[in-house]
Parts: sequence; C-alpha cells; structure tokens
Amino acid sequence: MTGAAVVPPCAAAPALCYSDAMNEPSSAATTIPSLADDARRLCQALLRMDTTNPPGNERVCAEYLAESLAEVGYLPQLLEGAPNRTNLVVRHRGTGKLPPLLLTAHLDVVEADPTKWRRPPFSGDEFEGCLWGRGAIDMKNMAAMCTAIMRRLAITRTVLDRDIIFAAVADEEAGCDLGSRFLVEQHRSLVEAEYAIGEAGGFSLHLGDTTFYPVQVAEKGFCWIRARVTGEPGHGSLPRHDSAVTRLGEALAALGRTSLPVHPTSYMADFVDAVRARQPALLQPLVRLLGRPHLLARVARLVPGASIARSFSALLSNTAAATVVRAGNKTNVIPGLAEFEIDGRTLPGQTDDDLLRELRAVLGPDVELTVMKSAPPIVTEPVASPLFDLIKHEVEHREPGAVVVPYLIPGFTDAKYFTQTGARWYGFSPVKIDKGSGIKFADMFHGHDERIPVAGLAWGVEVLDAVVRGISTSR
Ligand SMILES: [Zn+2]
Repeated sequence: MTGAAVVPPCAAAPALCYSDAMNEPSSAATTIPSLADDARRLCQALLRMDTTNPPGNERVCAEYLAESLAEVGYLPQLLEGAPNRTNLVVRHRGTGKLPPLLLTAHLDVVEADPTKWRRPPFSGDEFEGCLWGRGAIDMKNMAAMCTAIMRRLAITRTVLDRDIIFAAVADEEAGCDLGSRFLVEQHRSLVEAEYAIGEAGGFSLHLGDTTFYPVQVAEKGFCWIRARVTGEPGHGSLPRHDSAVTRLGEALAALGRTSLPVHPTSYMADFVDAVRARQPALLQPLVRLLGRPHLLARVARLVPGASIARSFSALLSNTAAATVVRAGNKTNVIPGLAEFEIDGRTLPGQTDDDLLRELRAVLGPDVELTVMKSAPPIVTEPVASPLFDLIKHEVEHREPGAVVVPYLIPGFTDAKYFTQTGARWYGFSPVKIDKGSGIKFADMFHGHDERIPVAGLAWGVEVLDAVVRGISTSR
C-alpha cells in the first residue's frame, strides 16, 4: 500500500530509545510490578477500548501500549496503512548471537451484542475471577502479556542473545490487510525473525482426564469464490423451472448438504495420536474412530456437541460455506443472473484448484466458479524445534500430566503474512483455564461473555516470559 503513514511517537515517549540507546527508564517505572499484575492492568485497559473491526480504530490501543513501553525507555514505532488503523512495533535489542524472535498479537476484535452478555463487552470488569470483555482471549490478553514481558526486560535491563520484537497489529479479524500484511509488505525489516509466537493455541483443552495444550503449527488456507448461475430472464408472471434463481437454489442446497472428501494430514494424525495415547478406556472407541476419517459421518454423530463435530470435520477436509447470495432486484422480473459467494478453506497439501475440482463435482458444470481472493495453507515444518521443545517443557513442568500437542486450525491468523519473512510460526498465547471453571475456550472465541480467568492470565504471562527468555539464551 502506498502513502502509508508513520505516526509520530506519542508525546510521552522519551527522546531516546531504550532498545537502541539503553537510556534510563523514567522514574515512573522504577517500582517493578509483577508480570502478572502488569499483564492484568494492561489487559483490563485494552478491554475497555472498543476496537471492533470494522471500523477497527486500533490506534487507541496502539497508543496506549506505546505509552506503556515508552515509560520504560522504549521508542516504539506506530505505523498505519490507513488512518487510525495503527500497528505498533517495538524491539528489545539483544547481543545478536541468535536471530530475532517475534511476538505478535492483534488489537482488533469482532463485534459483540451487549444484550447477549452478562457484563458489558467493553467494560473490562473483573467479575467471578475473570476479566470480561471482547478480546479477553482473542487476543488482547496476548497484547497485554507481550507488553508486560517487554516492559520487564527493559526495567530489569536484561540483555538476551536475540532481539525480541513485539508487533501489535490491526485488522486481523478482517483479513490482515492493514496489519500483518501491511507490515510485511511495507516494513519487512522491522518484523523479520527466525521464530514467531502468536495466535492460536496455548489454552487448556480438557478431554477426558487429560489437559492438552494445543500449539498451532499449521493453518488452513482460504479461497473465496464467486459462484454464478445464468439463465433466461423473463417476466415474473410467467415462471420457469430452469431460472437462474431456481438453479442457484439447487446449487446452494447441494453444497449445504455435502461434505467434501476427507484428506488426512500429519497434523491431524499427530493430534489424534496424542489424544488417543492418553484417553481413558471410556473414550478410546471415539478417539479410535477419529483416527479413521472415512468414518467421519459416524464421528460427527458420536462427538458430543455439534460445534466440536464441525471443528473435527473442518480439520479433515477442505470446506466450502455459502455466505453471500445475490439475485434480482425487482419483484416482477426473473433475473438472468444469480450468484453466491463461497468461503472455501483448504487443508495443508491442498490447492485452490483441488478445491475448485471438488466443488465442480458437487455443483456441476452449470455453475461458473471464480476465485476472488485466496491464500495458501501455512505449515511449520518440521514441527519439532528448540522452541517447540521449550514450550512443551515450560507448560508440562508447571502442570504435571498436561500434554502439549501440535495443532492445525481451520481458520486463519496473522501467521499467513508473518511467515512470509521466513519465520517459523508457533501459535501459543498461553492461558490456563481450570476444568471446573465452566469456561470453554472454543466458546469464548467470537462468542458471548468472552472473559479470561485472572489466574489463567497470570499463569500465561509467566509461561510466555520463561519461553521468551529461554529461547533467547544461547547455551
Ligand atoms: Zn484472533
């Protein structure tokens, strides 16, 4: 994007940059808050800022974080691809013995209907042991944790062997164009790293008697498609069975009732193996079935809860959901054109052409398909790395019996763009959710009553801090 603005640092920023000049942190920062207290304070403040995308308005959050970082001596950069769509990038310089580590979080959130919430969605209220608000787990918690960790590094004058870069970005929820994509395309050198840690993973997933911590190592691609049906136009008083609208209806129904072919991936197989190895006998038949994807229809019936079944299905095949439908604009005219849009998602190993072929088999030659926008699946290969091992160690030694598992997600994240610099992506925004809390992580994502346990946030920032320091110290 051309004409991108660079916002001057906020007024509170000192003249020197801690990361480059190692100037004194201001006196305001000399009392050192605990990581947990700092993360909680920052998270609560962020939750009180409405960054619903659209329109986003991430600037208010980015400026707030910039002030918090400037207070301890950093000179963060604020970069905009469009007015008020602000990204923040800050760097803590290391010795350079190892390449940089990138920490990322997006600052925008999806909409929230306050009438469906028990606490107002932009209240940041602390209630029932949780901080409430849209973005509490997706993912202002991560922005708060990363900021607290960066602040701690500056206050304690820690020198690591890597530069630690923190990028808080705009626009993830609407496709990343003004956020991670803008940074990678316009300011690449600021965010180049060996590893990137961001969305999605690191939360407690209770299955049977075992707590799993999925870490995203792969995400599906997206392929947004326009499907078009043409036919003879005519007068509404003379209906015809083969009109574009009727055939569009048939195509929609066919797509809605079909499951696309199953394509097992190593990511799903590894996840299922890890779950299978630790499940009590009661769950073994179900988990065994999950390992045999051709029995998917039975799995979907057996899995408790339609949303879990849908999630499993989405991880075993390409998917295609009709979302936008258009035809006609006058009640008495049969239109000659009817169209709908398909949100298609491709598994690792699959291409746009593979998905189009599968869709043609369902919709027939009559429906013309055009790709509007697409991005390929992302995979971190091989999954194993010193960073993954460290994440595993830091989680499992804090929570004996818990198991860190690599995970494929059906949606997309900023990994789509940040990995274009060559970074290896691990989705790890750690938060501990107790089994008896009644909070299901998956339901929080874009759901009503999004909230984060205060204790879970404290646990998360300690784990993440240990990971950041551990992977940035050469042995
Ligand atoms: Zn998110």
